[in-house]
Amino acid sequence: MIIRSLTQVLSPAGDGGKLSILIFHRVHSHPDPLFPDEPDIRRFDAVIGWLSRWFNVLPLDVAVMHLRSATLPARAAAISFDDGYADNVDNALPVLLRHHVPATFFVATSFLDGGRMWNDSVIEALRYTEQRLFDGRAWGLGVLPLETLEHRRCAVQSLLACSKYLEPAQRQAMVDQVQDWAGVALPNDLMMRSEQLLDLRNAHMQIGAHTVSHPILERATDAQARWEILSSKDDLQARLDQPVTLFAYPNGKPDTDYSARHVAMVREAGFVAAVSTATGVSAIGSDPHQLPRFTPWDRGRARFGARLLINLRHTACDVTQR
Ligand SMILES: [Zn+2]
Repeated sequence: MIIRSLTQVLSPAGDGGKLSILIFHRVHSHPDPLFPDEPDIRRFDAVIGWLSRWFNVLPLDVAVMHLRSATLPARAAAISFDDGYADNVDNALPVLLRHHVPATFFVATSFLDGGRMWNDSVIEALRYTEQRLFDGRAWGLGVLPLETLEHRRCAVQSLLACSKYLEPAQRQAMVDQVQDWAGVALPNDLMMRSEQLLDLRNAHMQIGAHTVSHPILERATDAQARWEILSSKDDLQARLDQPVTLFAYPNGKPDTDYSARHVAMVREAGFVAAVSTATGVSAIGSDPHQLPRFTPWDRGRARFGARLLINLRHTACDVTQR
């Protein structure tokens, strides 16, 4: 009750309204030993239960409309998922429906129906390989042991960190090498199938664009970036037979992963709002095409709530028009 009362004070209705947007990626069937901080169904169920008691969870487009007209309800929040993982439909959707909570799913279209994101290729290769050492000297990582789960977790983190900002072709070459070295078949059912996209639409969830191939826009040419933004919108609209008006920047850090010219491209493409991964909350004056998002990682209810309250102290007016 105290968290709800404090949220009411920090996130009032109307002029002083604040919009907290939460971001999720995967919701596993069971805890993932490689990523113990990622939620599984049980933990996600608890989190959505807390959120639905503390906040007025709105569809993101409705929340943005209220933000623009200074008519947000008290304790306004929206929930979002990035990338288009199949477990969002298999595991998260039933929980959301049970709690009557809406959400927006940002989908990178080229991975639908059997695709795999580059980071998942690295993760799954290191998870399943029978190799006991990874020679990462070519990437300045030294020789990494893979005997224990902790070793594998560290190796995944090191490889992802050193390759995230490589040029796309160079990064793909690295992923291909890791995949060949691992010598195991990698899963091709991590991402949504076309019909699951329709399941989300039919369940009255929102679907937003997240580019075609999830490039870091700042690393793409302007022509590529514009094509990625527009094509993902067109593809989703054709599949869903409805307008797609929301966008999420891949990776999403302002000035690192995207910049002002990409914000202009997104606005010109006709998106009514876009979300970043800057922390904080939106208020009147926040740029609707750079709304911040945040998710507490804490397991316990009190700490999870406390971190949401702290996040409410940081409004996004400082990124306005960036
Ligand atoms: Zn993403």
